[in-house]
Amino acid sequence: MIRFEQVSKRYADGTVAVEDLTFQIAEGELVTLVGPSGCGKTTTMKMVNRLIEPTSGQVLLDGADIATIDPVDLRRRIGYVIQQVGLFPHKTVLENTETVPRLLGHRRTRSRARAAELLELVGLDPDAHGRRYPDQLSGGQRQRVGVARALAADPPVLLMDEPFGAVDPLVREHLQTEFRKLQETVRKTVLFVTHDIEEAVRMGDRMAVYGAGRLEQFDAPSKVLGAP
Ligand code: ADP
Ligand code: ADP
Repeated sequence: MIRFEQVSKRYADGTVAVEDLTFQIAEGELVTLVGPSGCGKTTTMKMVNRLIEPTSGQVLLDGADIATIDPVDLRRRIGYVIQQVGLFPHKTVLENTETVPRLLGHRRTRSRARAAELLELVGLDPDAHGRRYPDQLSGGQRQRVGVARALAADPPVLLMDEPFGAVDPLVREHLQTEFRKLQETVRKTVLFVTHDIEEAVRMGDRMAVYGAGRLEQFDAPSKVLGAP
């Protein structure tokens, strides 16, 4: 589904962020991308939604080079969750969540129903939490809204960049468990970036382990842990 073929990225200042990446994420698979700060995780992720162009090699989505996919179509097919999800501060949680269905042209009642459904899916109460404003939610709840919003367009692919990185450890563990459960139902193709090895082990069907700009291991967590 997502395929990197000999992908390298050198920035304008000469920094080689990643080199010769070749790997594949199967449909419905959750791959965690783990490694120390500066090893090229964000660069890798941004080459999937084309925020960054590779210097050489190809990134393919369903067999098509993403450089040939219409940007609007690409955006629709890829949901994106970041560490500090940007919610509109003057809109309620429900209004924030229905933004995407509205943009997709659904009528207000239908969008509202979809938003309520999504909030329930991520463990929020559409009535109680839905009426609040983002600053009236905890950090963990805001991240849940971020996940709901990313799922709103029903994209087959989700990119998650340290999505639970800014919440405290207990809530974080809870969100990890809940997201794993959610993934069993929604079965998205997920690339999940984290610098936390425990999170990578807990969440990943497989793990991509980076050392400076290179893929060092790509295997199931049990295999990675068992490696010498
Ligand atoms: P990570 O997400 O693992 O922290 P990044 O992909 O952000 O790593 O960065 C990989 C390397 O590329 C680092 O050495 C970083 O300093 C460098 N880098 C990132 N963005 C740029 C840029 N726009 N210009 C030059 N170097 C960059
Ligand atoms: P970082 O947290 O690593 O600094 P950024 O916040 O710079 O990442 O990059 C995320 C950017 O991508 C945001 O500006 C956001 O508006 C934009 N973005 C959000 N969703 C998508 C998407 N589906 N495709 C492309 N870009 C997106």
